[in-house]
Amino acid sequence: MSKIIVAGAGHGGLTAAYNMAKAGHRVAVYEKNTPETVGHAWHDGMWLGSFDRVNMPRPTEMEFRPNKDMVFFNPKKTKTLTLNFEPSANTVFVDRHALVLYLVSQCRSVGVEFYFGSEVLSGECSFDRVRGLRVRTPEGKEETVFGDLVIDAAGMDSPVRKSLPARFGIPNEIPDADAFFVYRAYFEKTDPEAFDPRYSVYFFHCGHPGMDWMITEEDCMDVLVGKFGGLSQREIDESLADFRAEYPAMGSAVVRGGYMSKIPLTKTLSLIVANGYAAVGDAAGMTVPLNGCGIDLSLQAGGILANVASGVKDGNYTREALWPYQERYCILDGNKLVIVAKLRAFLATLRGENVDFLLENDILTQTEIGMAGGNMRAVNFRYILRKLKRLLPQAYLLPAAAKQMKGVVRLPKITSAMPAAYDEARVKRWRAIYDSI
Ligand SMILES: Cc1cc2nc3c(=O)[nH]c(=O)nc-3n(C[C@H](O)[C@H](O)[C@H](O)COP(=O)(O)OP(=O)(O)OC[C@H]3O[C@@H](n4cnc5c(N)ncnc54)[C@H](O)[C@@H]3O)c2cc1C
Repeated sequence: MSKIIVAGAGHGGLTAAYNMAKAGHRVAVYEKNTPETVGHAWHDGMWLGSFDRVNMPRPTEMEFRPNKDMVFFNPKKTKTLTLNFEPSANTVFVDRHALVLYLVSQCRSVGVEFYFGSEVLSGECSFDRVRGLRVRTPEGKEETVFGDLVIDAAGMDSPVRKSLPARFGIPNEIPDADAFFVYRAYFEKTDPEAFDPRYSVYFFHCGHPGMDWMITEEDCMDVLVGKFGGLSQREIDESLADFRAEYPAMGSAVVRGGYMSKIPLTKTLSLIVANGYAAVGDAAGMTVPLNGCGIDLSLQAGGILANVASGVKDGNYTREALWPYQERYCILDGNKLVIVAKLRAFLATLRGENVDFLLENDILTQTEIGMAGGNMRAVNFRYILRKLKRLLPQAYLLPAAAKQMKGVVRLPKITSAMPAAYDEARVKRWRAIYDSI
């Protein structure tokens, strides 16, 4: 029996904790929030099939919000694109606080211990391995907790990943340039009759490089203001003022949320395992880099991690023993999303008028928006050529577009070069290809 310690009650950490505890290990989770404040104060989309994949029962008592057709607006609001939602009982909008509490209750049912109100300060390392965590207890005392394996599920700015010595090879930082900065709030709805069946998404709203949304719910107005690389209070205020002018039912009182967060919009980090350490979820850069969705990826990655770690003999969680976790995750999802990260990188180089041009000239269509979910089936050489040709009137965009699209043709190389077993030289070669794209 090994001792597993989890930094942060992130989704991936909790599914790993659940499965490791079921396999007979002692598991403890250190979370800085309390059970009252853990998880986000709003609803987000997820796929219920993720629970099946990690052998956890699906929640039966949870209330879900209905999904809606999405309408995308260009910055000038002269053109819209509609993505029709195909109803499915498996795709739901879930209350993020309730979701984490559900995962916690499942973990507790198999003996996982929770230390809420405990802030993880850093990893505790010996020369060649991660041995534990430095933690500040709710009473303000600093202490070290030791484990055979540290699972880092503390999100994009994980203090554990940031503290690891360079010799472990794990990237410490996810740069702000690769992050989506978001403000999200549920505002009061002043007119109960106000109704809009759509989930309205505004590209480069008020000229800010990013994406905002407005969803008119039964009981509130769900607003997100999001920008690549950074977001100021002035930009938030501009977006909210524009929404208020367009949606008179949006009141001024915030009924839920009302704070800023960050989402990594990058490819998965090129190394997420070290001796005694594995990162999962946002801490490992596991999101769809265009739309920022990471719940399903994190849950499923946690399942893969537990599966691999449970097969490790004598609790000797070396980098070699944990590598199959990274390899399986990348083959399943991570490698495919590299191209989505390229598309996002291209979008981040644009100005509002470029986005107007892309939408008005059918360069950005339903097909490309659909790619946010990672479906790149339409992309081939002819497709790229056709798109580049249409870009000709704004030819100055071509070098940036060509640079990002070059990655598409190199994608099969990443997958085929990825070693199934850890071998230092081969992993180094693979990382060089992966990081260069
Ligand atoms: C506004 C918004 C909308 C989103 N919408 C969607 C969506 O519709 N669908 C989707 O799939 N994804 C969505 N995401 C992304 C999704 O939230 C993340 O990808 C997902 O939560 C990642 O899960 P995780 O396992 O990495 O853990 P996280 O959710 O990042 O949780 C990390 C946990 O670690 C804790 N923690 C952090 N630091 C410390 C510390 N020092 N000590 C102790 N504990 C710590 C945190 O309190 C938190 O509980 C959205 C994100 C935002 C911000």
